[in-house]
Amino acid sequence: MPMPGPIPMPALQAPPLSLYVHLPWCVRKCPYCDFNSHAAGGELPADEYVDALLLDLEQELPLAWGRTVQSIFFGGGTPSLFSAAHYERLLSGIRARLSLSPAAEVTLEANPGTVEHDSFSGYRDAGVNRFSLGVQSFSDAALRALGRIHGRAEALRAVESLHGAGISNFNLDLMFALPGQDLHDALEDARMAVSCAPAHVSHYQLTIEPNTAFHANPPVLPGEDLAWRMQEECGSLLAEAGFEQYEVSAWAQPGLECRHNLNYWRYGDYLGIGAGAHGKLTLVAEQCVRRRVRLRHPASWMRSLQTGGNGLAEDRLLPPEERVFEFFLNQLRLRRGVRKSQFEARTGLPWEVVAQRVGQLLDRGLLREEQDWLVPTELGWRFSNDAQALFLP
Ligand code: SF4
Repeated sequence: MPMPGPIPMPALQAPPLSLYVHLPWCVRKCPYCDFNSHAAGGELPADEYVDALLLDLEQELPLAWGRTVQSIFFGGGTPSLFSAAHYERLLSGIRARLSLSPAAEVTLEANPGTVEHDSFSGYRDAGVNRFSLGVQSFSDAALRALGRIHGRAEALRAVESLHGAGISNFNLDLMFALPGQDLHDALEDARMAVSCAPAHVSHYQLTIEPNTAFHANPPVLPGEDLAWRMQEECGSLLAEAGFEQYEVSAWAQPGLECRHNLNYWRYGDYLGIGAGAHGKLTLVAEQCVRRRVRLRHPASWMRSLQTGGNGLAEDRLLPPEERVFEFFLNQLRLRRGVRKSQFEARTGLPWEVVAQRVGQLLDRGLLREEQDWLVPTELGWRFSNDAQALFLP
C-alpha cells in the first residue's frame, strides 16, 4: 500500500482590505485608557501630522498594488480634535493614492466633549459616512469617575447634532461595570442609548489594564457576578430594541454592523498608518503574511518620516502558529463563529493543523458545526477565552 504523501500547502489568497488611520492626541488621558493616546498639551501639529500620514501611506502602496480599500477607520486618541478641513485633505490624499470602493464605509471616532455643533456635517461633507461617539455613560457621576472630559449634556447634544445633520449611521460606545455603578444605573445607560436611536452600540466592560492610572490606583468596581448580570440584562434590553449581537461587545441594527471591524475580526487585511498603527497584509506573490507596526510616540514617528525614515518599529513575516492564533482569536467572539473554508486561504495552512484542537472544542461543547461554520455555543460564548487559549502560539 502506498504511503500517504505530505499534506500539500494551500495557497494564501488576498482577503478584503481596510485602512486604519491613527490620530493619537486627546484633551487629556483618561485613567483607564491603555490606547496609544497622548495629552495634547497645546496646539496640535495637525498639518504636519496629515503630511506625515500621507507619506506613511505612500510607503505602504507597493504592498497593496491593485487592491481596493473597502473601509477606512479614523481612530485614536480623539480624531475629532482634527478639523473637517484636515479630513478633506486626508481623504482626497488617500483617494489619489489608493483605489477606494465607492461603497466604502468611512468611520470617524468622536468625543462628545470636542465636537462643535456643526462639525458632523463638515466631516460628512469631507467624506465620513459613519461616526462612533465615545459616550461611555449618560451618568455625570460615572463620567467623572472615568475622568471623561464630557458630561451627560454634551453627550446628548452630540447625538442631537448627528440627527440634526441627518446622520443615522452612528455607533455609541457604552461601558458597564463602572466605579459605583449598580444594575439599575447600567440599565438606565442602555435605555438612554436606545432612545438616542443609534445604528450600532458597542457595549463593553470596564477592565483595569496595566500601565494605566487605574492600575496604579484601582477604583472599587462591581464584582464579576454583578458585571455578568449587567451584560445579560443590558443585552436583553438591546435585543428587545431590535439590536443584534454579532460580537461579544458589538450590537447593531440589522445590516448596520461595523464592516471595518468585521474585516479585522475575520482576519482580513488592513493597512495601518499613523503613530503606533498596526498593519497586516497578505502578499500573494510572496505567499506570506506581513505585520508592520509604527513607532508609538507621535513626535518620534513624525520625525522619522520627515527625515526620510520609514517610521516603523516592527516589520516581520507572521509564522504559521501566529497566523492560526490570529485567525481564531476574534472569530471565536463572533456570534456567527468561524468560517472553516476561509482558514486555508487566509493562513496558507492546511485544515489538518487545527483539526484536532477544533475537535476538542466540539467535544467540550464550546462549538457546534453548522455546515461551513463553527458556531460558539452559549457555553463557548461565555468562555471564549478558554477556546482562544487552545490556539495560543
Ligand atoms: S478619550 Fe479615548 S483614547 Fe483618549 S484617553 Fe480617553 S479613552 Fe483614551
